[in-house]
Amino acid sequence: MKYVFKDLSDIKRRLNKSNFALLLDFDLTLSPLAKNPTKAILPEDTRILIKKLSKYIHIAVITGRTINDIKKRIKLNNITYVGNHGLEYEVGGVVRSTRLSTGSQKGLKNIKKKFLDIKRKYSGVFVEDKKLTLALHYRLLLPQDKSAFVANIKKIQTEIKNCGLRKILYKKTLEVRPKAKENKGTASLFILKEFNNPKQVIYIGDGKTDEDAFHVLPQDITIRVGKSKHSFAKYYVRNTKEVKKFLVWLLSTLNH
Ligand SMILES: [Mg+2]
Repeated sequence: MKYVFKDLSDIKRRLNKSNFALLLDFDLTLSPLAKNPTKAILPEDTRILIKKLSKYIHIAVITGRTINDIKKRIKLNNITYVGNHGLEYEVGGVVRSTRLSTGSQKGLKNIKKKFLDIKRKYSGVFVEDKKLTLALHYRLLLPQDKSAFVANIKKIQTEIKNCGLRKILYKKTLEVRPKAKENKGTASLFILKEFNNPKQVIYIGDGKTDEDAFHVLPQDITIRVGKSKHSFAKYYVRNTKEVKKFLVWLLSTLNH
């Protein structure tokens, strides 16, 4: 994994002026860490940057949030949105979502009840119903509740499995999803087709779910926020500030 700022001349050579696409994760990529995920924001200077970039190249934001949620945070029209880690898209103003089986719908309903029970028991825990998926956020859990909470969560994980659903654990969030093939990798490939298969792609993301995208883009410029030995990404930046710095550089190469 190379530090992206040590390879800019090579990246510049590979970018075919306007024939490339930029795919971006939101949380901890564009938006700095917020203790409460409902408070995550897009810094105004990053918004302006993305707006300027979108005049030259195709841009998509691919996130675990719902389409409605991400649109409210980004507030830009001419970019493509992918929500729920690939289960829903908005391309050209039309939203398409994966249809859930009755079994998955029932399972999600059932797990939501359990999540709400946990929420009532512990402060600093909240439940996000994203319709196609569910998330239990516990970044603000009190330290003295941790062991009881973990025991509770373990029990629920078995039930998630029994309901035919899948769990993803990341950054103090337990997410429950249907067993669908869609992920950020399939979403990236779908979006690139919509963009008429650009010659190069830049994908920037920080988390576990972004690895699905890094994995399906082996020939492209994949950048992880945070260095890691266990990543499919080719490059890394250190933090969201450096993502911004990279986008500034990108805009300057397009302007020349
Ligand atoms: Mg992220």
